[in-house]
Amino acid sequence: MAFEVVPLRAFADNYIWTLRDAGRAAVVDPGDARPVLDYLRAEKLELVAIINTHHHADHVGGNADLLKQYRVPVYGPHDERIREVTHRLRDGERMTLPHFGVGFEVFEIPGHTRTHIAFYGAGMLFCGDTLFAVGCGRLFEGTPRQMHESLGKLMRLPDTTQVYCGHEYTLSNIRFAKAADPGNRALLELEVKAKQLREQGRPTLPSDIGQEKATNPFVRCTEPAVVASASRFAARALKDPVSVLAAIREWKNNF
Ligand code: ZN
Ligand code: FE
Repeated sequence: MAFEVVPLRAFADNYIWTLRDAGRAAVVDPGDARPVLDYLRAEKLELVAIINTHHHADHVGGNADLLKQYRVPVYGPHDERIREVTHRLRDGERMTLPHFGVGFEVFEIPGHTRTHIAFYGAGMLFCGDTLFAVGCGRLFEGTPRQMHESLGKLMRLPDTTQVYCGHEYTLSNIRFAKAADPGNRALLELEVKAKQLREQGRPTLPSDIGQEKATNPFVRCTEPAVVASASRFAARALKDPVSVLAAIREWKNNF
């Protein structure tokens, strides 16, 4: 059995992405150990690794309880706030996931947090709370410029790259994107698709990089429609993509 990627739900809208084959599993951002332990038991799987993208509790809160039952490596950023990390990774470093043998390249993508990283390998991107489908994370520890650069880094990946982000925010992100990027037809098409999936109780994820380029206002900060609506919000003519991102991020915070 080749591996597959399964979403485990946690809290209100988190996904714990789980790579699994016939006998083993690795988890990305286990904010809660319970759904992971339940899944491992139900499927008779052994945990082989934990991956963390950033230090927020809804992404790392399950590390300790999982490690009580499984002695596995924990891959994450250089950030002492995640105590359980055994392999701290920097921009451009590579790691190979035990058992699965999948190689990942690490990108530092600050913006949501100062030390946020993403893992890219086998056509998949695990990007935590930096890039969402049709959105981006709040700027808790970073600047608009950092977020702009981090998103730009991810947009240079192949359009077919499967984007596994940390939360099911797609529908509310689309609601905002329709205001920030009016007249974008791709957005309306995606809304129909996403609504159907949610009505069936299915995730709208993974997204892909091509879809984000077509629909995500935070990576479309040079599109005339986005520049115009951001300028309207800011009540001045915004000229550069960083100011546009800053404006629409602030707008979305209270949308
Ligand atoms: Zn977060
Ligand atoms: Fe989160």
